[in-house]
Amino acid sequence: MENTSEKSHDADIQPCEKKALVGMTQLQLQDVVETLGMPRFTAMQIADWLYVKRVVSIDEMTNLSKKNRLKLAATYTVGRKAPAFEQRSVDGTVKYLFDTADGKAVESVYIPDGDRATLCISSQKGCRMGCRFCMTGRQGYHGNLSAAEIINQILSVPDSEKLTNVVFMGMGEPMDNVDAVLQVVEVLTAKWGLAWSPKRITVSSIGKMPELRRLLDETSVHVAISVHSPFHAEREQLMPVERAFAVKDVMALLSQYDFAHQRRLSVEYIMWEGLNDDLAHAEALTKLLRHVDSRVNLIRFHAIPGSNLRTSNEANMEAFRDYLNKQGIICTVRRSRGEDIFAACGMLAGKVK
Ligand code: SF4
Repeated sequence: MENTSEKSHDADIQPCEKKALVGMTQLQLQDVVETLGMPRFTAMQIADWLYVKRVVSIDEMTNLSKKNRLKLAATYTVGRKAPAFEQRSVDGTVKYLFDTADGKAVESVYIPDGDRATLCISSQKGCRMGCRFCMTGRQGYHGNLSAAEIINQILSVPDSEKLTNVVFMGMGEPMDNVDAVLQVVEVLTAKWGLAWSPKRITVSSIGKMPELRRLLDETSVHVAISVHSPFHAEREQLMPVERAFAVKDVMALLSQYDFAHQRRLSVEYIMWEGLNDDLAHAEALTKLLRHVDSRVNLIRFHAIPGSNLRTSNEANMEAFRDYLNKQGIICTVRRSRGEDIFAACGMLAGKVK
């Protein structure tokens, strides 16, 4: 881990006993101001301070009267919190650790790449989906993150203003915390919020279907589905979610939506040696994807302690990719980032090593 730098940040910007304003939608802010007897338009002023001017304290909201600022501050706080710790990879990736209100920790990963800067964010403290190959799953489930805690990751990383993209691929299954995730997508894309194009946002899922349908219907963000095996029995061994929502049914659902134009569907496929990296799997995957417009990302596996799963070798990955490409499916081997700081796919544990 030489060349890897670590730095502790000072404690948060403000204590968080009070309710957080950040993460609230325009309607929720209207409720807040009306309950406090303030004019309705104050909600728009607060949204502007939170999401455009990005203040970290109510005191900075200087177009609110002193009296209203005091009234607001009696119950609410902005809710911004700087990361408690950061760790830098040799490849420029930075992993940030955020403390949560109940003393847990979650991670976000900043991935600069040419003129793109992507932040991979967490939606839950741990995860209850139990995927066999995942460090987050291994540590169990410790609760959902609030919309404030999710959006805080985006607003409070040091390079926040440089972000071009956000991916919900950190700790947790986003569809297991769908209300908060949809709220954050609304804040990110609304005119009164950060006013991002939905094309800058990708939400991943292992295929929790009722909630996935909501994401598909209520937003137009890109979607990434973790498949990892096209075979029911094998996928069930790797990902218990297959028992409740078979991947073929997930694909049938996705086939009802348009991924050929503005919106993109990616299929995530971790490759394990001798398990799912042969041409029989490539053929079955092609069949599984025949009714959806998708592109496939092949992902190297990063060994986790106590697991006998091993990553596929380059030759098998390339043969797999070439097979899919020949079948007309865009397929690439994804470059791994931040492995030396345990920031790569499947390695997030809410702890800095
Ligand atoms: Fe949860 Fe995703 Fe890990 Fe599965 S892969 S245990 S859904 S965080």
